[in-house]
Amino acid sequence: MNTTVQTIRGACPHDCPDTCSLVTTVENGVALRVQGNPEHPHTDGALCTKVSRYTERTYHPDRLLHPLVRTGPKGSGQFRRVGWDEALDLVAERLKDIAARDPQAVVPYSYAGTMGQVQGEGMAARFFHRLGASFLDRTICASAGGEALIQTLGGKVGMKVEHFADSKLIVIWGSNSIGSNLHFWRLAQQAKRNGARLVCIDPRRSETAEKCHEHIALRPGTDAALALALMHQLITHDWLDHDYIAQHTLGWEGLRERALQWPPERAAEVCGIPVQQITDLARAYGTTKPAAIRLNYGMQRVRGGGNAVRAVACLPALVGAWRQPAGGLLMSSSAQFPVNRAALHKPELLAGRTPRTINMSTIGNDLLNPGSAAFGPKIEALIVYNSNPVAVAPESGKVVQGFLREDLFTVVLEHFQTDTADHADVILPATTQLEHWDIHTSYGHTDVLLNRPAIAPVGESRTNTDIFRALAARLGFDDPCFADDDETLCRTAFGTAVDFQTLLDQGFATLPIAEAPFAHGGFPTPSGRCEFFSARLAAQGLDGLPDHLPNHELQGSSAAYPLAMISPPARNFLNSSFVNVQSLRDIEGEPLLEIHADDAALRGIESGQMVRVFNDRGEYRCKAKVSTRARPGVVNGLGIWWRKLGPSGTNVNEVTSQQLTDMGRGPVFYDCLVEVAGVH
Ligand code: SF4
Repeated sequence: MNTTVQTIRGACPHDCPDTCSLVTTVENGVALRVQGNPEHPHTDGALCTKVSRYTERTYHPDRLLHPLVRTGPKGSGQFRRVGWDEALDLVAERLKDIAARDPQAVVPYSYAGTMGQVQGEGMAARFFHRLGASFLDRTICASAGGEALIQTLGGKVGMKVEHFADSKLIVIWGSNSIGSNLHFWRLAQQAKRNGARLVCIDPRRSETAEKCHEHIALRPGTDAALALALMHQLITHDWLDHDYIAQHTLGWEGLRERALQWPPERAAEVCGIPVQQITDLARAYGTTKPAAIRLNYGMQRVRGGGNAVRAVACLPALVGAWRQPAGGLLMSSSAQFPVNRAALHKPELLAGRTPRTINMSTIGNDLLNPGSAAFGPKIEALIVYNSNPVAVAPESGKVVQGFLREDLFTVVLEHFQTDTADHADVILPATTQLEHWDIHTSYGHTDVLLNRPAIAPVGESRTNTDIFRALAARLGFDDPCFADDDETLCRTAFGTAVDFQTLLDQGFATLPIAEAPFAHGGFPTPSGRCEFFSARLAAQGLDGLPDHLPNHELQGSSAAYPLAMISPPARNFLNSSFVNVQSLRDIEGEPLLEIHADDAALRGIESGQMVRVFNDRGEYRCKAKVSTRARPGVVNGLGIWWRKLGPSGTNVNEVTSQQLTDMGRGPVFYDCLVEVAGVH
């Protein structure tokens, strides 16, 4: 037989700011390896450990290869193999039946299992719009910070990531870049070699924190206090760019007054850090040019997360950092992409209906809601794709209780038998990124990437788009848009705003973004200025200026639960993806709780010992690791393990809460008090 070897360009679909360009080597239809594209500047030929094992994931022996229908009790994981027609007929019949009563009783549940515009909501949104299903508020990761950026800078915009290499001071705020933003870290290293100072702000002494010149290990949920104290110092030492403030900001007098209430001593007390760390950072930030902040989403998973992001996002304008390409701030670049969402999602299919909205971060409560005039109908069907809510949604005791409802019809599109798939009535096997078309934006750089299929679908798996097309046909949705194929959807995503031939030729296309986009103001806010004061927030009855809002679960407020817990991702997992890839799980070992030696000694806990982590919401078990990665009073429950792979069949979200952030209706995973006890 002749051997044919091809290389196919694609895009990493995972929830990571780097959005790498992939090159898959295929021999006789089999993917041999997945590598970083050396021709894509941001990827620079390198992938993280997780995705460099992508063929192991694609050809995993546990890959779902056929549709399955439940045979055992809910949650038992017992299914029988069926053909596609039987599975799709069953789903279509149930949805028809429920929709005839009220289509809002059907709820889609999806997030960033793929970040692709096509296999994400490309065809799914059309289907749910036509059905009249509930809207889903996709808040679970980034909505507080996203809303804060909109209110301050006008959108998810910021400096071009490549210019971090030329910064002289880089503040890495709320991010373990080595684990979750590797290609940015390479730029930071380049800057470091050129003499830049790196400062990491994170309650956890992460891999990134220990490689920076300085680590500021503040208490979770106190970032706004630190930012306000930095402003206090910038003001009192006059390290301000008065001209930039006058020309390009709004609300300076109010912010000045607010910041002057935050002398470093006050913030040091709140943050649990030395005064000197604040004054030193303020001096460095006020006197080093260019200074850049890489802000990430970790710090906004607390009650005051939106205010904290707003406070930090005000800093670059105060010192005029935006004037230079290597100065400013980057949290997300996603609003810089001219995606034509209306053309993709077809909101006109709603035909004037405005369904109610379900917040994905409170799915535990909402599944248990019997329905009311305010809530709308009880949720009767849940269609889950690109997400694993049983493992990742907060307060999983309630989430599981909801998924166990006998009267809930649950359909799960998946690659693997996840915790959520275990609770399905019907499982539909979906393709992975190597098997389908897609097109990608990024939230860490400003290139569009095209993903071409490298291999045929594995087993009987089908693309998400194909599954929604097939369901649409069964429900009698004959609108022409349901006939669009995936390449057409890829072309639709950007229309003429991005040259599709360039994407076909090289796999990526770079957006024309100014090198220093806000050097002369021009922020996409209503005023065109950086809005220290947001009239839009004030109109909602909220504080128009950023402030420090203490956590819902403030440390010291509970004698029973004295420890604050954060749950950052284990380095070799990405949310709950990759947990079942054996070689990666071997590196991680088992679920761990990092605890400081003082807290461990107080409880007689030794490293390696099994512990219970608990509060009023529930408990989970894992191994304790006595470690300097944890600061006193704060424990780090590394996530997100699949529940069924944890020692007690639960995971860290057993103890997290369904309370929400100050803006954006986001979850507060890192605003959580617990107690820890050894298990003997
Ligand atoms: S997870 Fe991130 S670093 Fe890893 S390959 Fe994907 S985009 Fe690149």
